[in-house]
Amino acid sequence: MKITYPHMGNLYIVIRALLTSLGLDLVLPPPTSNRTVELGVRYAPEFACFPLKLNLGNFLEARELGADTILMAGGVGPCRFGYYAQVQREILRDLGVSMEMVVLEPPDTHWSELKDKIRWLVGDRSWWEIIKAIRFAWYKARAVDLVEARVLYLRPRVFEPFELESGYREALRKIDQAASKRELDSVVKGFFRFSNRLPRRSGSLLRVGLVGEIFTVLEPFANYDLERRLGLLGVEVTRSIFLSAWINEHLFGGLLRVKGTKHVKKLAAPYLNFFVGGHGRETVGSTVDFARQGYDGVVHVAPFTCMPEIVAHSVLPSVTKDYGIPTLTFYLDEQSGEAGIQTRLEAFVDLISARRERVRKEKH
Ligand code: SF4
Repeated sequence: MKITYPHMGNLYIVIRALLTSLGLDLVLPPPTSNRTVELGVRYAPEFACFPLKLNLGNFLEARELGADTILMAGGVGPCRFGYYAQVQREILRDLGVSMEMVVLEPPDTHWSELKDKIRWLVGDRSWWEIIKAIRFAWYKARAVDLVEARVLYLRPRVFEPFELESGYREALRKIDQAASKRELDSVVKGFFRFSNRLPRRSGSLLRVGLVGEIFTVLEPFANYDLERRLGLLGVEVTRSIFLSAWINEHLFGGLLRVKGTKHVKKLAAPYLNFFVGGHGRETVGSTVDFARQGYDGVVHVAPFTCMPEIVAHSVLPSVTKDYGIPTLTFYLDEQSGEAGIQTRLEAFVDLISARRERVRKEKH
């Protein structure tokens, strides 16, 4: 059995750690590229969500490299995510691509089913070995998130963002290869030491919160590298979703001390009082959270036609009205153009910078 799974940012590092610790054979798809999009768009229904198309492209590319089993997450709730894996399975079958698909449903809703599927995957490995593998994957998720958050903070501050970027790539490579928690700690410390040595600009920067659907927030290919674009425009970006927070909330029941989204769900009221699927409620709550913390603006990303984010988008003007925080929404898919995204970002940065100046003058 040669297992593959779709890309979502640096998730591949975490899943690779988990599965290889359990002795499974993996075939990672090549990094998502224009070819991945081309394949996904060619075979998926036109109206399918962008992540479905990219996942499908990942599977087809992994198949070319010899993968025969797909590991895919399932979902619950009012949006289309719950059907993703089934639709992808049918498409692959129609194409004559024979691949086994194992769908892992969310542990907080289908625990016994998840347990059976894990058992099927890992054979007679003990639960203790499984727990150890999960713990190691968790350490990797934390290491990746610490390094990513550091890059988001430093990118607009350093004189040499490209040097920071290459240090970041190197740190990710080492995290991926690390074989123990001690090694991981030393990679993270090494990266912090390296990044602290980079010469920095002084002065206060514009701060923008990034909210939206999890895949588009975490996958730079899907969001046209928004974080980097904003960083290079001199803006500090704070992400509302990190992988480790998601894992803590959904796998560990929020037991670990990692900042999650519980508080933002509460902040979404009274604008949005119930679950609308995906991360719609968190989008609204995080926008309120960023506004209360005095951020200059919020960038909201979602796949084109994403239902939970359309709901969230429809209430964001009320948040803007109440808190005065500007928001900019991007609906992204294979038709989005880089030039248009860059132009809108630049205009948004000009707008929030002018607003900050106006507020400053009003205060004095
Ligand atoms: S959250 Fe949005 S993009 Fe994701 S499956 Fe649901 S509708 Fe599609």
